[in-house]
Amino acid sequence: MLLFGTAGIPNSAKKDTFSGIMKLRELKLEAMELEFVHGVKISHINAQKINTFSNKNNISLSSHAPYYINLNSLEKEKVEASIVRIIKTAEISHICGARNIVIHPGYYHNMDKLDAYNNIKKALKRAVEEIQSYNVILRVETMGKLTQFGSLEEVLNLSQDLGPKVMPCIDFAHLHARTIGKLNTYQEFCQILDNVEHKLGKKGIKDIHIHVSGIKYSEKGELHHLNLKESDFNYIDFIKSLKDLEVEGLVICESPNLEEDAIMLKELYHN
Ligand SMILES: [Zn+2]
Repeated sequence: MLLFGTAGIPNSAKKDTFSGIMKLRELKLEAMELEFVHGVKISHINAQKINTFSNKNNISLSSHAPYYINLNSLEKEKVEASIVRIIKTAEISHICGARNIVIHPGYYHNMDKLDAYNNIKKALKRAVEEIQSYNVILRVETMGKLTQFGSLEEVLNLSQDLGPKVMPCIDFAHLHARTIGKLNTYQEFCQILDNVEHKLGKKGIKDIHIHVSGIKYSEKGELHHLNLKESDFNYIDFIKSLKDLEVEGLVICESPNLEEDAIMLKELYHN
């Protein structure tokens, strides 16, 4: 099964998680990413309530860890604080029943890419050791700006090196922006998915976590997200590739219009 949902509370809902879940159900969407992007600010009791409520309404949850994570910071304290933020997000996501946690890993800081890789791997490994008792997977996101760590190859290698608690979040819009307009044809979408399967096995595409939106980019990569119809992102062939390769998991829409594009993608997928 491939489920479609929004990054955070739909625009047409009241701005609380419970109203968001109800709205998604009403719109016949199936998933929501909890946005802890500005910090984890909910109590354990509320997290438990969110878990029960999302189950009752049949909405699959994932979460997005805080933006201010940089596992390759030149300042040691910032790496330590990033690890703590990941652990805290994992704890609350576990209580919410949000198994997939999306993480922005960090920046290259003009470092050699392999050195950056090794620093991030080392820090992420420490976070992984601390979250073994939680039913969560850290999803390292493919990033859209060229200064950001997170090519497809890097995130797949991290999954391979760090084991089952680390998997990718394949952000197709970011990959398109990162390659300055490439990775936008049916064949290239299939190649990305084949790559995931080749490196991670069947599980890679049968338990996938996808981000998608329209995107504006320059020669430095991502500028900002757009609605799909206002962008050059080839969402029709994107959906076709997911269908043809029988991909399963979650597709989270990050367009500014959130639920509108999520519904459009879901309808394309099913028709
Ligand atoms: Zn993200």
